Amino acid sequence: MARFLCFACRRTITASVRKIPLPPWKESPEGATEWFERIKAPRMPPGTYAANHRPGEFSGEPPGLVVHPDDVRGMRLHPDTSRITGCCGINLLDGPNLVCEGCGAELAVRQADCHTENQVTLVTEAVILSYADD
Ligand SMILES: [Zn+2]
Ligand SMILES: [Zn+2]
Repeated sequence: MARFLCFACRRTITASVRKIPLPPWKESPEGATEWFERIKAPRMPPGTYAANHRPGEFSGEPPGLVVHPDDVRGMRLHPDTSRITGCCGINLLDGPNLVCEGCGAELAVRQADCHTENQVTLVTEAVILSYADD
């Protein structure tokens, strides 16, 4: 198993994960009327990650490494609240909205809105994969 670390300070930022092919988009929930029902189930199974280096032009997704929201460790919301956007949940506006709890490096984009996937995308250059067990 492997996990991701913050490249800058080597803090652990995900649970143990294994690589899988990128799952297809989730369908929107049927019959949703309340805003919180419109947010999709997470795209990734827990304990996995997938490369999404070339998302579709109109997908609204950032390029990077996609993980399950519950596998995130040691990250917090960006202190600049203008990065925290979305109509029903949280979405990408202009850059990462999750930062390292240790050093403040911008590490990932959390998306969970009515018109997006429910996922966290790690910024490829800001993280490093570790195979160490500790
Ligand atoms: Zn919405
Ligand atoms: Zn860090």
